[in-house]
Amino acid sequence: MADYDVIVIGCGPAGMMACGELAKRGVRVLGIDKKPKLDINIRTASGYCFLDQSFNHEYIRRTPQGSRTKLEYTDTGFTVTYGGSMEGIHHSHMFSDTGKHWQVTVTKKPFYHIFNPHQCHADRFAWASKTSAEFMTETHFRHVTQDESGVRVKVRRLGKDIYLTAKKLIAADGLCSRVAKVTGANASRTNFGMKGPTIEYELTSVECPYDRGDMFFFGAKNFGGRAGGIIMVPSCHGEGIFRMETMSMLPASTATDLIEYFTKKGPYAGWFKKSDVIETSGVVIEFLSPMIIPHVGHILFAGDSAAYGECLYQSAVMAGYKAAECVAGELDGKPGFDEYTTWWADHFNWVREPKAMADYTKRVLFPRFFSVEELDYLFDLSNKYPIVMEQAEASPYTFSTMMMESFMQLPGVSDELKQRMQFIIDADMAQVAQVVGQVQKAK
Ligand SMILES: Cc1cc2nc3c(=O)[nH]c(=O)nc-3n(C[C@H](O)[C@H](O)[C@H](O)COP(=O)(O)OP(=O)(O)OC[C@H]3O[C@@H](n4cnc5c(N)ncnc54)[C@H](O)[C@@H]3O)c2cc1C
Repeated sequence: MADYDVIVIGCGPAGMMACGELAKRGVRVLGIDKKPKLDINIRTASGYCFLDQSFNHEYIRRTPQGSRTKLEYTDTGFTVTYGGSMEGIHHSHMFSDTGKHWQVTVTKKPFYHIFNPHQCHADRFAWASKTSAEFMTETHFRHVTQDESGVRVKVRRLGKDIYLTAKKLIAADGLCSRVAKVTGANASRTNFGMKGPTIEYELTSVECPYDRGDMFFFGAKNFGGRAGGIIMVPSCHGEGIFRMETMSMLPASTATDLIEYFTKKGPYAGWFKKSDVIETSGVVIEFLSPMIIPHVGHILFAGDSAAYGECLYQSAVMAGYKAAECVAGELDGKPGFDEYTTWWADHFNWVREPKAMADYTKRVLFPRFFSVEELDYLFDLSNKYPIVMEQAEASPYTFSTMMMESFMQLPGVSDELKQRMQFIIDADMAQVAQVVGQVQKAK
């Protein structure tokens, strides 16, 4: 008899949700994670989410309940409670190489809400701990073999190899999934060659003179001649506190150099004179095309392990829920893995429409399509004609289109520039990867 019905590798947002949901359904489940503590976040995450709007073909309805927030996944059909309130963010900014500023504001409906990633982990872990789910921390997944009856998993814990068996395995070990690597599940995925480290600092007492919103800084002058970018997102910890993450190249030390230069020596260093770094985290990001069939043998992939880049917390939780439902079905002799595969394709835009991968990426890559002078011209014009709307379609999939369309509407923009903007709106992943490749070759 197998040690467990299901082993879940990785207890992040997807894996923890899967563990709790499986246990609720009477399934004997073990969650394994290399982290020593499961109720804190150590992976970089700025903390934004897209609620009260359709995102990844799911509409999450947010209902504040005192100091907590109810989140109803109206399509996939479940509810979770977040143990805090969520602030809506109405402004978005960009700063060019030469310090020009671009801003867009929505007056009625926020672009997105912000949350505390630690709180999400603590909430899900507290909930799953009340079920019969078992957890093994400080345990590294090493390998898995499969036969007709299920999986045999090799893990390493405190210097010892341990072998465990289960009927099914959920791989929720995130981006750069080791389960995907050792099972060959990445073989049919395209690697876009966009791999890089990111470091995140959470900084207090940031003296930023602009409306509270996210800020995207690009251009070598901001980073002492280094290539890369910085995104600053308001922190749920309050006014003047920001989570700041780098977009940088390997080796990983470039990420630290970039953020240190930006906050201590760059043109905006004055904003950080009184700041303290209250938290740091880091992760290496790699972009593969998504799995189209997110299962192999007895193994189902949930969350970032099968995604293009990232699912975001909200959709990783949703993938964990659905994975649990479908694996429980599979254990009952139903075609649960097939059901999950259809749900996966129905919910993540990039599975059925490869262009959605490009759309997701363009928000931070669009400056590479313009010269410094062209961007200065466009930012100056949009300062003269401020972009203020009641609400905007501005999820990661749609933000760059919204931005290009707002540029195109500015008076005096040449047809040549408008055509370039249309090209950006229409560009697919091959065209985006080509632009990235040109920049990388140029170094
Ligand atoms: C720079 C950056 C900013 C982001 N900002 C946001 C944001 O603002 N909002 C948002 O919603 N999302 C954000 N994300 C994305 C978000 O963090 C992920 O989409 C989400 O965490 C995916 O959840 P997951 O459960 O699939 O994987 P993960 O959260 O990566 O969880 C995987 C788990 O598996 C464990 N694990 C991995 N390998 C092994 C192994 N070999 N053995 C044992 N355990 C293992 C890890 O310790 C981890 O607990 C951001 C990501 C990055 C990189």
